[in-house]
Amino acid sequence: MKGRRTDTGLIHSGRRKEWRGRIVNPPVHRSSTILFDTVEDMTMATPGLGKPYYALHGTPTHWALSEALTELEPGAAGTMLYSSGLAAVTAALMSVLSAGDELLMLDSVYGPTRRFCDGLLARYGITTRYYDPLIGGGIAELMGERTRAVFLESPGSLTMEVQDVPAICEAAKARGIATLLDNTWATSLFFPALAAGVDLSILAGTKYVGGHADVMLGSVTATPQTYGKLERTSWDLGHGVSPDDAWLGSRGLRTIGVRLRQHQENALKVARWLKEQPQVAAVLHPALPDCPGHELWARDFKGASGLFSFVLQGGGDAERTRFIEKLELFAIGYSWGGYESLVVPADPARIRTVTKWEAEGPLVRLHIGLEDPEDLIEDLAQALADYGAA
Ligand SMILES: *Cc1c(COP(=O)(O)O)cnc(C)c1O
Repeated sequence: MKGRRTDTGLIHSGRRKEWRGRIVNPPVHRSSTILFDTVEDMTMATPGLGKPYYALHGTPTHWALSEALTELEPGAAGTMLYSSGLAAVTAALMSVLSAGDELLMLDSVYGPTRRFCDGLLARYGITTRYYDPLIGGGIAELMGERTRAVFLESPGSLTMEVQDVPAICEAAKARGIATLLDNTWATSLFFPALAAGVDLSILAGTKYVGGHADVMLGSVTATPQTYGKLERTSWDLGHGVSPDDAWLGSRGLRTIGVRLRQHQENALKVARWLKEQPQVAAVLHPALPDCPGHELWARDFKGASGLFSFVLQGGGDAERTRFIEKLELFAIGYSWGGYESLVVPADPARIRTVTKWEAEGPLVRLHIGLEDPEDLIEDLAQALADYGAA
């Protein structure tokens, strides 16, 4: 970060004068073709950051976002952009795996990532072995001859287990195994992943980078050892991002610092209140002690974002549905990371294969937006009162 503090970097990064001229923001370059002056210029050209070649490989609009994301991860060689978080996950995996390899994958991984591993990767001769997200350094015992990569996501999707990222990365590094982290929850602001030993740090930019529920975007920020292969693989697969979407990503990134801090404050207020309610059995928020791996969060993270889950006391599917539909400020919908509060039912027991999920009642995941948290609490209170009465 060239000595700049994070919030300062967020304002200035990616805004090179040669990319934006006298305008504050780099413009949206809507183009396929990039023109060369001579045949020699064309034949000598190679794609890359700041190197005009073909629009699939980027324009100043894309470089502005890539460079800003790279600056957030000290030690990174570069950042590739994708049209969704899932595209970022799959490209990163394909860049480190080949037929015959084995991948170690946490059992509480984001559902579509699991589907990709069990489906497409399996079809291409890559096997996936799931592991307990709380395994820590014990992961070394699972690493065999064919293990080429370990995938982490901390906290895990739905059940929020915080992983011992440094211990897992150390075990992998000792054996020359690549590590990939889905860092969407914390982002590089609350968890600089490469500094913790991760090779490929993945963000669903759809969430907090965009921040306004108006764009699908993904990114992978990589170490010098892994960036070349990531770039090659992504271009071979034809990955690219529309300039409008890249521009929205840059626009969102300018305010991610203040937004994340407010999501954190609001979510903590709501989570602490929920913890006191008789209709709530447990609150799975990394900053609260109920959450598996809470002590690792306290050791490794600089903050907590707005997404967490909680377990209702007793009841089943029907009662949970009634509770969710009783909420007025929390909309029912996938995704998260925007300014608005959202709720989804979650059923981890049906998905997992090597760890068990048992709880006193059904699980609910909340994204806490930028509304006044007192209003969110009042909304939850009326729905919980109804739940308790049922
Ligand atoms: C949403 C999400 C993704 C995928 O992002 P999309 O942009 O929706 O494809 C990946 N990982 C995690 C943890 C997510 O929550």
